[in-house]
Amino acid sequence: MNVNDSEILSGILETKGYQETTDYRSADLVLVNTCAIRQKAEDKAYGFLGDLKGLKKEKPDLIIGICGCIPQHEKEKILKKLPFVDLVMGPSGIEEFGNLLSEVETKKETITFFGDDCIPRGIHPSKRAKIPRAYINIMYGCNNYCSYCIVPYVRGREICRPVKDVIDEIKTLDKSIYKEVFLLGQNVNSWQGDRGEKFSDLLKIVHELQQIKWLSFMTSHPKDFTDDIIDAVANSPKINHYIHLPIQSGSSKILAAMNRKYDRDYYLRVVDKIYSKIPDVALTSDIIVGFPGETDQDFQDSLDIIKKAEFDSVNTLVYSIRPDT
Ligand code: SF4
Repeated sequence: MNVNDSEILSGILETKGYQETTDYRSADLVLVNTCAIRQKAEDKAYGFLGDLKGLKKEKPDLIIGICGCIPQHEKEKILKKLPFVDLVMGPSGIEEFGNLLSEVETKKETITFFGDDCIPRGIHPSKRAKIPRAYINIMYGCNNYCSYCIVPYVRGREICRPVKDVIDEIKTLDKSIYKEVFLLGQNVNSWQGDRGEKFSDLLKIVHELQQIKWLSFMTSHPKDFTDDIIDAVANSPKINHYIHLPIQSGSSKILAAMNRKYDRDYYLRVVDKIYSKIPDVALTSDIIVGFPGETDQDFQDSLDIIKKAEFDSVNTLVYSIRPDT
């Protein structure tokens, strides 16, 4: 999601006449797009901003912006920590970024923007970084409140883009450049259209567009990985047989404590259905270790489910304490 946000921010900067540089020390503007999902990511962002503080002393006209989930969570408090920053905005500020930057350029004072909820974005110029892949965000925010996760507090409630906006954005893609359209959402398979369309309907609609050579999507929540989605993937030749389905723990006790809204047996049933309909699927997952209350047996359950689900790869992360969770 953050990569896609950065692509849009870069695209807007280009339309305002800025050019990318590989050496931030030579830049006129540095925008730090932050992630708050883990403490390590926050520490890294603050470390880099510390470097920028020194650079601002050497170059007082340097514009420094911080955006994304850290400022959304910290709000005005961040101005005390980072008084040298010129622009502070949460994720929903992207929609207003061009105007906010104009204000910074003319007023020479710190500008802030914190919307409480994500807003469905329009179609913006995007400097896509993963050619031949084009990320297309189809929804923002999250309603699930997993007990370890800060996302609902910083990205707001789930909001879905209408089918028309998704299609219109895909139609802007040059087919000779982009080979893969990658639909994105915190819970991409929970997407619902403004006319009651389900995610499987969207997959089928997008699949028919002539711009599409390959179609992928991420990240899916197991509780919403319904049979119609499995069928859509199995029966649509342009949809990649790649499914990322984070389980987070192999222990039903820990899954309940995580508020994941499914248990181990449910997850394995979904996996069985996927393998039966899409035998050549590449199935990947995420697992958190060290969640509060996790015993050796719970950990063994996670190891066991890795074998049972026959994942192609698993991102394993140590539990990270997040404020408000
Ligand atoms: S589904 Fe859970 S882990 Fe994923 S973004 Fe929402 S709250 Fe976080």
